Amino acid sequence: MISDSKHTVLDIEKIRAEFPILHQEVNKRPLAYFDNAASSQKPQVVIDAISNYYSTINSNIHRGVHHLSQLATDAYEQSREKIRKHLNAEKKHEIIFTKGTTDSINLVANGFRQLLQEGDEIIVSAMEHHSNIVPWQLAAKEKGAIIRVIPMNDNAELIFEEYQKLLNEKTKIVAFNHISNALGTINPVKEMIAEAHKYNVPVMVDGAQAIPHTLVDVQDLDADFYCFSSHKVYGPTGIGILYGKEEWLEKLPPYQGGGEMIKEVSFEGTTYAELPHKFEAGTPHIEGGIVLGTAIDYINTIGVENIAAHEHALMEYALEKLGTIEGFNLIGSAKNKAAVISFLIDGIHPYDAGTILDKLGIAVRTGHHCAQPTMSRFNIPGTVRASFAVYNTYEEIDRLHEGLLKVKQMFA
Ligand SMILES: *Cc1c(COP(=O)(O)O)cnc(C)c1O
Repeated sequence: MISDSKHTVLDIEKIRAEFPILHQEVNKRPLAYFDNAASSQKPQVVIDAISNYYSTINSNIHRGVHHLSQLATDAYEQSREKIRKHLNAEKKHEIIFTKGTTDSINLVANGFRQLLQEGDEIIVSAMEHHSNIVPWQLAAKEKGAIIRVIPMNDNAELIFEEYQKLLNEKTKIVAFNHISNALGTINPVKEMIAEAHKYNVPVMVDGAQAIPHTLVDVQDLDADFYCFSSHKVYGPTGIGILYGKEEWLEKLPPYQGGGEMIKEVSFEGTTYAELPHKFEAGTPHIEGGIVLGTAIDYINTIGVENIAAHEHALMEYALEKLGTIEGFNLIGSAKNKAAVISFLIDGIHPYDAGTILDKLGIAVRTGHHCAQPTMSRFNIPGTVRASFAVYNTYEEIDRLHEGLLKVKQMFA
C-alpha cells in the first residue's frame, strides 16, 4: 500500500494503476505530478472513451438522420444529462457546453456587456484567475462600467463586510471563484450569493477548482451561473460547462453566431434557437462533451467526498512536513482551504525551486498562476504551487520535502 490507509478509504495504488502517464520516469526519477490545479491527468477509461468515440460513432450531431449521427447525438445529450444531474441543475437546457471556464466566463461577460450602461458596477474578488477579471474589464471598458474588488485579509479570506459594502443598486453582476487556484481558499459561495440576491444581483461562480474536489449543487447554492473546465476534472481539454439559470440564459444575447444556434436565418433578420443551442454555435467538441460525461462518471465511482478526504489528508501531511523546513512560507492559510499549497522559501526564487524539483522528477507550478492581482496582494511576484489529485501519495510528499531540502542546499 503506497498510501497510509488510516488516512483514506481509497486504494490509491489501484487508482494510480488507472493513470498510464504516471508510470514514467522524468529525469530518471519516477514522476510525481503536483500540477493538478493547472490540469489533471486522465484515467484509462477517459482515454479509451476518446478512442471509442472515433472508432465507433464519430459523426456530426443534431443534424443527420443517419444512424451514426443519431448515436453521436444521443451520447452527447446523455452526457449533458449526466452533468445536469451531477450539478443538480433543474433543467437539462441550463447546461451549455463551452470550451472551458475561460470560454464560459467570456460568454456571460459578453452577454452582460450588451446589457450594461455607463456607471453600472461589476464586483469581482481580489483572488480571481485572470479569466474572471479580464472579460469583465473588457465589458466594463466598452460601456463605462466600473469594476469593484472584494478585498481579502492576510489569511487569504475574502472580507465579507467589505463585500456587503460594495453591493448596491448599481451592481449588475458579481463574479468570483468557488476555490482559488492560487491559494486554495474555499469561498463561502452560498452566503455570498444570498447577499447579492438581496439586491437582485446575479452571481457568476468560477468553479474550475471546485468541481474536481467538492460536490456542487447549483440549486442549493442558488448560483445564477456556474462554470468549470473538463481538463481539471480528469477529462479532455477544450471542453467545459456553463450552467445558467434558464431565466438568465434567456435574457442574455447569444455569444457567437453560426450554425446550430439559429431557428431561422434570412437577410431580413434571424431568430435564435432554443436553449441550450442558442449558445452552442457551430460543430462542438463532440468527443470532448461525451468524454466529459465519462470523467464525471469516473469521479462519482470513486466518490467526490472520498477524493476530497484523501486530498485533504495529503494537504495536512504536506503542511506539517513542509512546515518544518526553515524559511518555508505558506501563502494562503484560509481556515477553509482546498488541497493547494502555494509557498515560498526565503531567499529562493520560485523558478529556481521548480527547476530543481523537475530535475528530481517532481512537477510543481511556479509563477503567478494567472492571478497577478492575488500575488500583488501579498507583495510577491509568484509562488511555488503543489496541488493534489486523487492519485497523489504520502510518499510523493516525502519526495517533495526532500527535494525542497535539496533546493535549499543548492541556493541557500
Ligand atoms: C484553470 C482556471 C481557470 C481557467 O480555466 P481554463 O480551463 O484555462 O479555461 C479559471 N479559473 C480558475 C479558478 C482556474 O483554476
